[in-house]
Amino acid sequence: MGKSLLSRLKEGILIADGAMGTMLQSRGLGTGECPEQWNISHREEVQAIHRAYLRAGCNLILTNTFGGNRFKLKKFGLENRAGDFNVTGAKIAKEAIEQVPLSNTYTQPLFVLGDVGPTGEFMEPVGSVKLEEFYQVFKEQILALVEGGIDAVIVETMSSLEECQAAVRAAKENSNLPVIVSMSFDPGKRGFRTMMGVDIPTMVKGLSESGVDVIGTNCGGIGLEEMAEVIKEMRMLTDKPLMAQPNAGKPMLLEGKTVYNESPEAMAAQVEELIKAGANIIGGCCGTTPEHMAKIVQAVRAL
Ligand SMILES: [Zn+2]
Repeated sequence: MGKSLLSRLKEGILIADGAMGTMLQSRGLGTGECPEQWNISHREEVQAIHRAYLRAGCNLILTNTFGGNRFKLKKFGLENRAGDFNVTGAKIAKEAIEQVPLSNTYTQPLFVLGDVGPTGEFMEPVGSVKLEEFYQVFKEQILALVEGGIDAVIVETMSSLEECQAAVRAAKENSNLPVIVSMSFDPGKRGFRTMMGVDIPTMVKGLSESGVDVIGTNCGGIGLEEMAEVIKEMRMLTDKPLMAQPNAGKPMLLEGKTVYNESPEAMAAQVEELIKAGANIIGGCCGTTPEHMAKIVQAVRAL
């Protein structure tokens, strides 16, 4: 399966799913609740979200394991559940794919991407965590995802290149699956940078040296139009497949809450820009729903 994801990418655009967090909240996940615990306590709810994205026509679904690393889980006192949450998260996604009727051929092939998010910790000397500790934490998560049956690893919403590289090494040394790394950019006077100050050339060079298979960008303080600029800049620097997962518009503050308001139609209308810029996988980040992805699938097919 792993190899066929990369070979399938040579044949055309693939569509990844939209937000998981937004959907979990709409199904009752409370603030302060651990989203990954829902893989055990609300298994059916999580699987229903996967099915909704598959029905929308998405080819790739991400496991509900974004915060499933020991450092993040520690904030809920659940660090010893990391293995359990990740194995189950992968199995739920795998089963959702098996439940999709075979007649639904245009959504084939379908792949499960094991989702690995940032640890929320900082590496020495900025923070107190050693490079080796990052490696161990990612290794634990990735081994569990592999045990659950994922087809590829996606390391996403990252802002530190060193942290990305620790995750990539953990994935490469403990699996033979393709690895996608996606970082989040904000606009600035000196061009697009991550929160930790990484620019696009530094990212592309660093990740290429680490042997990453797909380079991407998701989330961040940018809308779809600016994301197309990020992809364009990446495309000038690499021949590797590129992945773009925009939020549903630029983040906006409404009554103290961050909201993403772009409609499915408005997003779908701009998707051509991402493809022209060089994107090979299109997905959605914060605020995107199965309705957004269904419109994006339609727009991509029409091209
Ligand atoms: Zn996001």
